[in-house]
Amino acid sequence: MTSLRKDWDTYFMDIAFMVSTRSRCPRRHVGTVLVQGKKLLGTAYNGAPMGVQDCSEAGCMIVEEFEPAIAGSASTEMIKKQRCIRTIHAEQNLLLFTDRVDREGSVVYVTDQPCWTCANMLANSGIVEIVYYRPYSKDDGKVTSLMEQRGLLFRQLDNYVPPADTEVQDGS
Ligand SMILES: [Zn+2]
Ligand SMILES: [Zn+2]
Repeated sequence: MTSLRKDWDTYFMDIAFMVSTRSRCPRRHVGTVLVQGKKLLGTAYNGAPMGVQDCSEAGCMIVEEFEPAIAGSASTEMIKKQRCIRTIHAEQNLLLFTDRVDREGSVVYVTDQPCWTCANMLANSGIVEIVYYRPYSKDDGKVTSLMEQRGLLFRQLDNYVPPADTEVQDGS
């Protein structure tokens, strides 16, 4: 009989997805956990600062930016993209709520591939590995290159299925 016991990658990514459901931004739910050895040392999701109205109360704070239609391609075609900037990104909240000593040599599991700013901060945070599930193509090229230069393990989880009802449905 095959074991139904989850491997550690699945176990911690499942927790990251559960954590992401705490987010009150309707556009994006991101969850992340800090793991040292096999120990869970912190959790965080994207959200407005404490005591400040969040997206569900005040609406998203939308900015529009032009960016390449196809990230990393040589094409110069630009498209307008909308992004909510009300929330602190999950990875940055994780750094705000964990201690440096707990991060040294640790692994970060995150539901989404980190954006450039988060990746840059994680690269200087003491952690040695980042595991993500959903790709974020906009910053993929420069983030991957940064991780290589910094010597951090950076991998997308394959053959993984998030727990039921933990993903934002499009258009909500
Ligand atoms: Zn929002
Ligand atoms: Zn980010």
